[in-house]
Amino acid sequence: MSNYQIETKCIQSGWNPGNGEPRVLPIYQSTTFKYESSDQMGRLFDLEESGYFYTRLQNPTNDAVAAKICDLEGGAAAMLTSSGQAANFYAIMNICEKGDHIVCASAIYGGTYNLYAHTIRKMGVDATFVDPECTEEELNAAFQENTKAVFGESISNPSLVVLDFEKFAKAAHAHGVPLIVDNTFPTPINCRPFEWGADIVTHSTTKYMDGHATCVGGAIVDSGNFDWEAHGDKYACLTQPDETYHGVVYTERFGKGAYITKATAQLMRDLGSIQSPQNAFLLNLGLETLHLRMKQHCANAKEVAKYLQNHEKVAWVHTPELETDKNYELAQKYMPDGTCGVITFGIKGGKEACVRVMDSLKMIAIVTHVADARSCVLHPASHTHRQMNEQELIEAGVQPDLIRFSVGIESAKDIIADLEQALAQA
Ligand SMILES: *Cc1c(COP(=O)(O)O)cnc(C)c1O
Repeated sequence: MSNYQIETKCIQSGWNPGNGEPRVLPIYQSTTFKYESSDQMGRLFDLEESGYFYTRLQNPTNDAVAAKICDLEGGAAAMLTSSGQAANFYAIMNICEKGDHIVCASAIYGGTYNLYAHTIRKMGVDATFVDPECTEEELNAAFQENTKAVFGESISNPSLVVLDFEKFAKAAHAHGVPLIVDNTFPTPINCRPFEWGADIVTHSTTKYMDGHATCVGGAIVDSGNFDWEAHGDKYACLTQPDETYHGVVYTERFGKGAYITKATAQLMRDLGSIQSPQNAFLLNLGLETLHLRMKQHCANAKEVAKYLQNHEKVAWVHTPELETDKNYELAQKYMPDGTCGVITFGIKGGKEACVRVMDSLKMIAIVTHVADARSCVLHPASHTHRQMNEQELIEAGVQPDLIRFSVGIESAKDIIADLEQALAQA
C-alpha cells in the first residue's frame, strides 16, 4: 500500500514504469507469454515463480488495475473479474462448498439476491437473509455451525440502506467468519470498509469506477486481515494442501495473498470469468478521475434531492445525503465526505404519474444502468419488476411509485430544469 492521499492513488497507483517504458499503462493484448525454457514454464505452473503465462489466470494490464483498486481500498491483494456478478460469486465460492451456509443482508442488488438465494443454493450453499437494520441478537441468531461468511452492501442498490459495518463485523468475527462487503456505490473514495472491520471487498467496476458506462467488470480485494489459520478446520480449502494444485497450502505459501491467489489459481482457472485487458485499460482511465466524479455526483444528488423534496408533486425522496433520511446518521459515521449519486423518489399519483414524468424527460434518459456520468432513471414497477402487481410490489419492498434516479455529473441546473418540465406533466 502506498502512503499517498486517495486522490493521488487514483492517478499514480498500480503502474510504475521503469526508465524508457510507456508513461501510460499499456494494453497487453496477448493471450500468452513467451519463455526460454520448458523448465521455467514448469515452475510458473507450480506457482513456484511468479510470472505470466496465460491471460485467463493473469495479465499485466489487469494486474496493474487490480493493484490500483487494492491500494484505493487499503488492501493486501486484489483481482479483476469479468463482472460484478462474477466478483460476488467468486468471493463466496472461494471459501464455501456444498453443505456450507452464509449470512446475508437482505437489502442488496437484485442480481446478487438471485445469485445467493437461488443459484448457489442449487450448488449446495444456503443463505439466511437478515434485515440490515436488525438487532445484534437477531443477527447472531442467523448463524449456523456451517456458516462460512457474512455479506452486505455498504450502500444497498436500490434501497440505499447504509450497512452498519461495526455491527456486522462484530457478529462475523464472533462466529469466526469474514465479513464480505460490496462497496460498489460509495467506492473507496467515500468509504473504505476495511477501516471498519470488513475483511473482503467486492466491486461492480461497471458503475462509478468505470464511470462512463463503457465496460462491464468486477473486482475482489482482500484486506489480508482475516486469520484463516485460526479457523483452519473451517477453511481447509486455504489451510490444507490443494491436491488440484500439486498440494500447495495457500496460507503457508502466500500469507496475506492466500485468498486472492486461491481465487485466481482455482476459480479463475476453472470458471474463467476474466476481465479483458482492453476493458481493464478503460477502467483505469475511469479510476483516474474517480475522486473528482464522486464529489460531483454527491453534490448534484444532494441538490437534486433538496429540489425534489420541496416539489409539490413529489411524495417522498430517499437518499442518505439528506439530514431527514433514516440512514443519515450511519452515513455520517461511515462516509462523512459523501455517499453516492443514486437517489430514489416517488411521485403523487403513483405508477401512471411516474411513467408520464419519465416519458417527458428530455436529457435524463431511461436506461438499465446506474452510476455513470450521465443522469438516468429506471422505474422498477415498469421495468425490472414489471411482472408483479401492486400488492406483490409492496411485499417485495418496491413501492409502485419508486423511481431510481442516478444523478450524473452534468450541471445540477440542467438536471433540475429537465425534472421541472417533466414534473409539470405529472
Ligand atoms: C450492478 C451491481 C452488481 C452487479 O455487477 P455487474 O457488473 O452488472 O455484474 C453487483 N452489486 C451492485 C451493488 C451493483 O450495483
